[in-house]
Amino acid sequence: MLPTTTKAQTAQKPRVRFAPSPTGNLHIGGARTTLFNWLYARQTGGTFILRIEDTDRARSTAEYEKTILQDLRWLGLAWDEGVETGGEFGPYRQVERQEANIYQPFIKKLLDSGQAYYCYCTTEQLDQDRKVAAAAGKNPVYSGRCCNLTTTDRAAHERSGRLAVVRFKTPRKEVRFKDLVRGDVNIHGDDFGDFVIAKQDGSPLFYLANVIDDALMEISHVIRGEEHLPNTPKQILLAEALKLKVPQYAHLPLILNPDRSKMSKRAGPTHVREYIRLGYLPDAIINYVALLGWNPGTTQEILSRDELVKLFSIEKINKAGAVFDLTRLRWLNAVYLKKLSEKEYLEIAVPFVAVKADREKVERAIISVRERVQFLAELPPLVDFYFASKLVYEPTLLVWRKSTAQKSLNELERVTTAIADWGSAIFATRQKLLEALQAYVAENKLGTGDVFWPVRVALSGLKASPGPQDILWVLGKDEGVRRLREGIALLRKSLTDSSQK
Ligand code: GLU
Repeated sequence: MLPTTTKAQTAQKPRVRFAPSPTGNLHIGGARTTLFNWLYARQTGGTFILRIEDTDRARSTAEYEKTILQDLRWLGLAWDEGVETGGEFGPYRQVERQEANIYQPFIKKLLDSGQAYYCYCTTEQLDQDRKVAAAAGKNPVYSGRCCNLTTTDRAAHERSGRLAVVRFKTPRKEVRFKDLVRGDVNIHGDDFGDFVIAKQDGSPLFYLANVIDDALMEISHVIRGEEHLPNTPKQILLAEALKLKVPQYAHLPLILNPDRSKMSKRAGPTHVREYIRLGYLPDAIINYVALLGWNPGTTQEILSRDELVKLFSIEKINKAGAVFDLTRLRWLNAVYLKKLSEKEYLEIAVPFVAVKADREKVERAIISVRERVQFLAELPPLVDFYFASKLVYEPTLLVWRKSTAQKSLNELERVTTAIADWGSAIFATRQKLLEALQAYVAENKLGTGDVFWPVRVALSGLKASPGPQDILWVLGKDEGVRRLREGIALLRKSLTDSSQK
């Protein structure tokens, strides 16, 4: 099973991979890992592979695999080889690789050569060992109890029905490697001791399956999150023991909350799915995550995919953790939303406004608040009032602050009569409506607020909303005039009520 020749014709070209465990939805960190691998492959003419690491059967689900693939596709990060796409190095799911008996020969080789051994320790024994080590202030490394079991010892354990895991006999030496981001890393085998590489049912653990697959798939560069850095020396020792080629490693800096703790919900939504639901654009997410721990060495903040492919370099990835800044991501998303044509914008925005109403009205409503949103889930509360059958607000809200209730009522009555007389051509654009309102103000020698304020409030029922010209354009003349008359009635009633007190 050991690879003797390389299968990849493009062996000199980088082969990189994203290897998610389908135990949750795609995390922002996973999106960044994918992007950096993808960028590296696109830039170098290499191959980007998607492998599913589902050996942890208790936590992996087909549903999560599906959502991860969907989210990667939504981001526009297609893979050249891997699950669903296929390729010469398949299968690309570890469970299928296990069924194809890919890992067993490697485990056997380690056992036969004395580089691994069966361990029969019980959970209770291991817990006890850990307590003793902790009390003595030592690393909780395995005690080595089963390292030198004789055939007789083993037979006794087997007879008593104990099941064994397989442990790697870690060479007690310094492991040195050059991480492409972190530079020289040295860790001593004593620091982690003999670790488990196969479960009691014979299935391989992460360290082993991952290192075997990277070698068999001829992965040249392992670009992954810093949380995997402690695994790397173990994997290098395993690769050496199995005479497998050791890839180059690049560990991407952690993504942090503003207080520099590990990224959590406090910093913002943590999964790509949530950003999709909130109405973010894939290009904005890509641009944002590209800058999480990497920068092009310029102050340029808006970078297209093509620019990223051109500028990306592993050398420019930072060692220090990258703080996740939701305000910046929102700002970037707004920039990308602005770039869309009206047609493109409406196409993605309309589904966010789930109201049963005339399509044109919905579109106008959305356009009227377009400048106010940074992501599309902000739309519904902003446009709700357009679709309300009855507005509920305090009549005093209709009174312009520099005016009185009686004066506001008079102005509202007069302007409503004027608006009711306007021809439909005026309602065709916001500009025409604005000009008509301004002309009315000028002709009647009024202050803008005297007219615009009560009209806007009667149309919206809100303290803050788009201007009256926007609302009239969305509602149309009939609904607009109806709301204005309701406002008049409300104010009149409140004046009558107060005069009777
Ligand atoms: N399956 C691992 C994870 O989801 C990936 C490990 C790697 O990239 O080497 O974290």
